[in-house]
Amino acid sequence: MLVTGKQILEHADQNGYAVGAFNVNNMEIIQAIAEAAGDLKAPVILQASQGAIKYAGIEYITGLVKTTAELVDVPMALHLDHGTDFDEIMKCIRNGFTSVMIDASKHELEENIRLTKEIVRIAHSVGVSVEAELGKIGGTEDHIVVSEAEATYTDPEEARIFVEETGVDSLAIAVGTAHGVYKGEPKVDIERIKEIDRVVPVPLVLHGSSGVPYDTLESAVKAGIRKINIDTDIRASFAGAVKEFVEANPGEIDPRKILKPARARMADTVKEKIKVFGSDGKAWK
Ligand SMILES: [Zn+2]
Repeated sequence: MLVTGKQILEHADQNGYAVGAFNVNNMEIIQAIAEAAGDLKAPVILQASQGAIKYAGIEYITGLVKTTAELVDVPMALHLDHGTDFDEIMKCIRNGFTSVMIDASKHELEENIRLTKEIVRIAHSVGVSVEAELGKIGGTEDHIVVSEAEATYTDPEEARIFVEETGVDSLAIAVGTAHGVYKGEPKVDIERIKEIDRVVPVPLVLHGSSGVPYDTLESAVKAGIRKINIDTDIRASFAGAVKEFVEANPGEIDPRKILKPARARMADTVKEKIKVFGSDGKAWK
Protein backbone atom coordinates (compact mmCIF):
# COMPACT_ATOMS: atom_id res chain seq x y z
CA MET A 1 0.00 0.00 0.00
CA LEU A 2 1.44 3.31 -1.15
CA VAL A 3 1.01 6.12 1.41
CA THR A 4 2.55 9.57 1.86
CA GLY A 5 5.77 10.24 3.70
CA LYS A 6 3.81 12.27 6.23
CA GLN A 7 1.45 9.37 7.03
CA ILE A 8 4.37 6.99 7.60
CA LEU A 9 6.35 9.39 9.76
CA GLU A 10 3.37 10.54 11.84
CA HIS A 11 2.66 6.92 12.76
CA ALA A 12 6.32 6.49 13.72
CA ASP A 13 6.17 9.67 15.81
CA GLN A 14 3.03 8.58 17.64
CA ASN A 15 4.50 5.15 18.36
CA GLY A 16 8.11 6.12 19.12
CA TYR A 17 10.06 4.27 16.42
CA ALA A 18 11.98 5.18 13.24
CA VAL A 19 11.16 4.13 9.68
CA GLY A 20 13.96 2.80 7.49
CA ALA A 21 14.42 4.78 4.28
CA PHE A 22 16.37 2.60 1.89
CA ASN A 23 17.88 3.79 -1.38
CA VAL A 24 16.81 1.92 -4.51
CA ASN A 25 18.53 1.69 -7.89
CA ASN A 26 17.31 -1.54 -9.48
CA MET A 27 14.81 -4.38 -9.23
CA GLU A 28 16.88 -6.62 -6.94
CA ILE A 29 17.31 -3.88 -4.31
CA ILE A 30 13.57 -3.11 -4.37
CA GLN A 31 12.74 -6.82 -4.04
CA ALA A 32 15.17 -7.19 -1.13
CA ILE A 33 13.57 -4.29 0.75
CA ALA A 34 10.09 -5.62 -0.07
CA GLU A 35 10.97 -9.06 1.29
CA ALA A 36 12.41 -7.63 4.50
CA ALA A 37 9.52 -5.21 5.10
CA GLY A 38 6.91 -7.85 4.26
CA ASP A 39 8.46 -10.54 6.50
CA LEU A 40 8.84 -8.16 9.44
CA LYS A 41 5.53 -6.31 8.88
CA ALA A 42 7.40 -3.00 8.83
CA PRO A 43 6.33 0.28 7.21
CA VAL A 44 9.13 1.36 4.91
CA ILE A 45 10.29 4.22 2.69
CA LEU A 46 11.80 3.43 -0.70
CA GLN A 47 13.82 6.38 -1.86
CA ALA A 48 15.53 7.22 -5.12
CA SER A 49 18.18 9.88 -5.58
CA GLN A 50 18.41 12.00 -8.72
CA GLY A 51 21.36 9.74 -9.67
CA ALA A 52 19.23 6.60 -9.28
CA ILE A 53 16.51 8.12 -11.44
CA LYS A 54 19.09 8.99 -14.08
CA TYR A 55 20.48 5.44 -13.95
CA ALA A 56 17.25 3.42 -13.98
CA GLY A 57 14.80 5.86 -15.55
CA ILE A 58 11.90 7.31 -13.57
CA GLU A 59 9.34 5.00 -15.26
CA TYR A 60 11.22 1.90 -14.08
CA ILE A 61 11.65 3.21 -10.53
CA THR A 62 7.99 4.22 -10.15
CA GLY A 63 6.75 1.11 -11.97
CA LEU A 64 8.75 -1.25 -9.76
CA VAL A 65 7.83 0.54 -6.53
CA LYS A 66 4.11 0.77 -7.40
CA THR A 67 4.06 -2.96 -8.20
CA THR A 68 5.82 -3.69 -4.91
CA ALA A 69 3.31 -1.58 -3.00
CA GLU A 70 0.49 -3.67 -4.53
CA LEU A 71 2.16 -7.00 -3.79
CA VAL A 72 3.44 -6.35 -0.27
CA ASP A 73 0.88 -5.56 2.40
CA VAL A 74 2.76 -2.92 4.42
CA PRO A 75 2.60 0.90 4.20
CA MET A 76 5.24 2.19 1.79
CA ALA A 77 6.22 5.65 0.59
CA LEU A 78 8.10 6.49 -2.61
CA HIS A 79 10.45 9.35 -1.81
CA LEU A 80 12.92 11.50 -3.74
CA ASP A 81 16.21 11.67 -1.83
CA HIS A 82 18.18 14.95 -2.02
CA GLY A 83 16.21 16.78 -4.69
CA THR A 84 18.29 19.80 -5.65
CA ASP A 85 16.67 20.67 -8.95
CA PHE A 86 13.18 22.19 -9.32
CA ASP A 87 12.41 20.35 -12.58
CA GLU A 88 13.56 17.00 -11.14
CA ILE A 89 11.29 17.46 -8.13
CA MET A 90 8.33 18.35 -10.36
CA LYS A 91 9.01 15.26 -12.50
CA CYS A 92 8.85 13.05 -9.40
CA ILE A 93 5.60 14.61 -8.21
CA ARG A 94 4.07 14.14 -11.66
CA ASN A 95 5.18 10.49 -11.79
CA GLY A 96 3.56 9.48 -8.52
CA PHE A 97 6.18 9.95 -5.81
CA THR A 98 4.34 10.37 -2.49
CA SER A 99 7.17 12.31 -0.88
CA VAL A 100 10.05 14.53 -2.03
CA MET A 101 13.11 16.02 -0.41
CA ILE A 102 14.21 19.53 -1.31
CA ASP A 103 17.84 19.88 -0.33
CA ALA A 104 18.68 23.58 -0.43
CA SER A 105 21.03 23.23 2.56
CA LYS A 106 24.01 24.63 0.67
CA HIS A 107 22.27 28.02 0.64
CA GLU A 108 22.03 30.53 3.49
CA LEU A 109 19.03 30.19 5.82
CA GLU A 110 16.88 32.78 4.05
CA GLU A 111 17.39 31.29 0.58
CA ASN A 112 16.91 27.73 1.93
CA ILE A 113 13.58 28.88 3.41
CA ARG A 114 12.52 30.53 0.15
CA LEU A 115 13.33 27.50 -2.07
CA THR A 116 11.83 25.01 0.41
CA LYS A 117 8.65 27.05 0.81
CA GLU A 118 8.10 27.05 -2.95
CA ILE A 119 8.34 23.24 -3.14
CA VAL A 120 6.09 22.82 -0.08
CA ARG A 121 3.38 24.99 -1.66
CA ILE A 122 3.34 22.96 -4.90
CA ALA A 123 3.80 19.50 -3.33
CA HIS A 124 1.12 20.04 -0.67
CA SER A 125 -1.36 21.22 -3.30
CA VAL A 126 -1.26 17.68 -4.77
CA GLY A 127 -0.93 15.78 -1.48
CA VAL A 128 2.81 15.04 -1.65
CA SER A 129 4.94 15.28 1.53
CA VAL A 130 8.15 17.30 1.77
CA GLU A 131 11.42 16.73 3.64
CA ALA A 132 13.97 19.55 3.80
CA GLU A 133 17.50 19.84 5.19
CA LEU A 134 18.99 22.39 7.55
CA GLY A 135 22.65 22.36 8.49
CA LYS A 136 25.18 20.70 6.21
CA ILE A 137 25.61 16.92 6.35
CA GLY A 138 29.19 15.90 5.49
CA GLY A 139 30.37 13.33 2.97
CA THR A 140 29.43 12.50 -0.61
CA GLU A 141 25.97 11.61 -1.92
CA ASP A 142 25.78 11.39 -5.71
CA HIS A 143 26.80 14.86 -6.95
CA ILE A 144 26.60 16.52 -3.51
CA VAL A 145 30.01 16.78 -1.87
CA VAL A 146 30.43 18.41 1.57
CA SER A 147 33.93 18.39 3.08
CA GLU A 148 34.49 17.91 6.82
CA ALA A 149 35.34 21.61 7.16
CA GLU A 150 32.13 22.67 5.39
CA ALA A 151 29.86 20.38 7.41
CA THR A 152 27.89 22.35 10.00
CA TYR A 153 25.56 21.13 12.73
CA THR A 154 21.91 22.16 12.77
CA ASP A 155 21.08 24.96 15.19
CA PRO A 156 17.90 24.18 17.20
CA GLU A 157 16.54 27.74 17.13
CA GLU A 158 17.15 28.03 13.38
CA ALA A 159 15.42 24.67 12.92
CA ARG A 160 12.36 25.93 14.80
CA ILE A 161 12.13 29.04 12.62
CA PHE A 162 12.81 27.04 9.43
CA VAL A 163 10.01 24.54 10.05
CA GLU A 164 7.56 27.23 11.11
CA GLU A 165 8.22 29.36 8.03
CA THR A 166 8.39 26.60 5.42
CA GLY A 167 5.65 24.21 6.60
CA VAL A 168 7.77 21.11 5.79
CA ASP A 169 6.59 17.68 6.93
CA SER A 170 9.98 16.40 8.14
CA LEU A 171 13.44 17.82 8.69
CA ALA A 172 16.87 16.30 7.96
CA ILE A 173 19.37 17.54 10.53
CA ALA A 174 23.17 17.56 10.67
CA VAL A 175 24.29 16.07 13.99
CA GLY A 176 27.58 14.35 13.17
CA THR A 177 26.70 11.68 10.61
CA ALA A 178 28.08 11.78 7.06
CA HIS A 179 27.23 10.24 3.69
CA GLY A 180 29.36 7.34 2.43
CA VAL A 181 31.83 5.11 4.28
CA TYR A 182 33.17 6.25 7.68
CA LYS A 183 36.92 6.25 8.34
CA GLY A 184 36.63 6.28 12.12
CA GLU A 185 33.59 5.86 14.34
CA PRO A 186 31.06 8.67 13.82
CA LYS A 187 30.28 10.90 16.80
CA VAL A 188 26.58 11.63 16.85
CA ASP A 189 25.37 14.58 18.96
CA ILE A 190 22.41 12.93 20.71
CA GLU A 191 21.82 15.96 22.98
CA ARG A 192 21.41 18.16 19.91
CA ILE A 193 18.78 15.78 18.50
CA LYS A 194 16.87 16.07 21.80
CA GLU A 195 17.14 19.87 21.77
CA ILE A 196 15.89 20.09 18.18
CA ASP A 197 13.09 17.60 18.89
CA ARG A 198 11.92 19.75 21.79
CA VAL A 199 11.37 22.84 19.63
CA VAL A 200 10.52 21.31 16.23
CA PRO A 201 7.04 19.77 15.86
CA VAL A 202 7.74 17.61 12.76
CA PRO A 203 9.58 14.24 12.58
CA LEU A 204 13.39 14.40 12.33
CA VAL A 205 15.51 12.59 9.74
CA LEU A 206 19.00 11.11 10.09
CA HIS A 207 21.07 10.85 6.91
CA GLY A 208 24.36 8.96 6.49
CA SER A 209 23.29 6.27 8.94
CA SER A 210 25.16 3.34 7.37
CA GLY A 211 28.08 2.26 9.55
CA VAL A 212 26.72 4.06 12.62
CA PRO A 213 26.88 1.73 15.68
CA TYR A 214 23.49 0.27 16.57
CA ASP A 215 23.45 1.55 20.15
CA THR A 216 23.99 5.06 18.76
CA LEU A 217 21.10 4.63 16.33
CA GLU A 218 18.90 3.36 19.16
CA SER A 219 19.77 6.45 21.21
CA ALA A 220 19.02 8.65 18.20
CA VAL A 221 15.56 7.08 17.87
CA LYS A 222 14.92 7.62 21.59
CA ALA A 223 16.01 11.25 21.15
CA GLY A 224 13.45 11.84 18.36
CA ILE A 225 14.76 10.56 15.00
CA ARG A 226 11.86 9.12 12.98
CA LYS A 227 13.40 8.40 9.56
CA ILE A 228 16.79 6.75 9.11
CA ASN A 229 18.45 6.73 5.68
CA ILE A 230 20.48 3.71 4.61
CA ASP A 231 22.28 3.46 1.28
CA THR A 232 25.97 2.55 1.75
CA ASP A 233 25.31 -0.61 3.81
CA ILE A 234 23.01 -1.96 1.06
CA ARG A 235 25.64 -1.23 -1.57
CA ALA A 236 28.27 -3.02 0.53
CA SER A 237 26.02 -6.09 0.90
CA PHE A 238 25.29 -6.13 -2.82
CA ALA A 239 28.90 -5.71 -3.92
CA GLY A 240 30.26 -8.12 -1.29
CA ALA A 241 27.90 -10.93 -2.26
CA VAL A 242 28.49 -10.45 -6.01
CA LYS A 243 32.26 -10.43 -5.54
CA GLU A 244 32.22 -13.58 -3.42
CA PHE A 245 30.00 -15.40 -5.89
CA VAL A 246 31.99 -14.42 -8.96
CA GLU A 247 35.28 -15.34 -7.30
CA ALA A 248 33.91 -18.75 -6.28
CA ASN A 249 32.20 -19.31 -9.66
CA PRO A 250 34.31 -17.56 -12.30
CA GLY A 251 32.64 -19.46 -15.15
CA GLU A 252 29.08 -18.45 -14.24
CA ILE A 253 27.43 -16.04 -16.70
CA ASP A 254 23.77 -16.32 -15.64
CA PRO A 255 22.81 -12.93 -14.13
CA ARG A 256 20.10 -14.64 -12.07
CA LYS A 257 22.66 -16.87 -10.36
CA ILE A 258 25.05 -13.97 -9.80
CA LEU A 259 22.42 -11.61 -8.36
CA LYS A 260 20.35 -14.03 -6.26
CA PRO A 261 22.82 -14.21 -3.34
CA ALA A 262 23.22 -10.41 -3.49
CA ARG A 263 19.47 -9.94 -3.21
CA ALA A 264 19.33 -12.33 -0.24
CA ARG A 265 22.18 -10.54 1.55
CA MET A 266 20.59 -7.12 1.01
CA ALA A 267 17.32 -8.46 2.46
CA ASP A 268 19.22 -9.64 5.58
CA THR A 269 20.86 -6.21 5.93
CA VAL A 270 17.51 -4.42 5.65
CA LYS A 271 15.92 -6.79 8.20
CA GLU A 272 18.71 -6.09 10.67
CA LYS A 273 18.19 -2.32 10.32
CA ILE A 274 14.41 -2.56 10.64
CA LYS A 275 14.81 -4.35 13.99
CA VAL A 276 17.28 -1.74 15.27
CA PHE A 277 14.93 1.08 14.24
CA GLY A 278 12.03 -0.60 16.07
CA SER A 279 9.74 -0.55 13.01
CA ASP A 280 9.20 -4.34 12.89
CA GLY A 281 5.59 -5.31 13.50
CA LYS A 282 4.48 -1.66 13.17
CA ALA A 283 2.70 -1.98 9.79
CA TRP A 284 -0.93 -0.90 10.03
CA LYS A 285 -3.87 -1.72 7.77
ZN1 LIG B 1 21.36 12.02 2.56
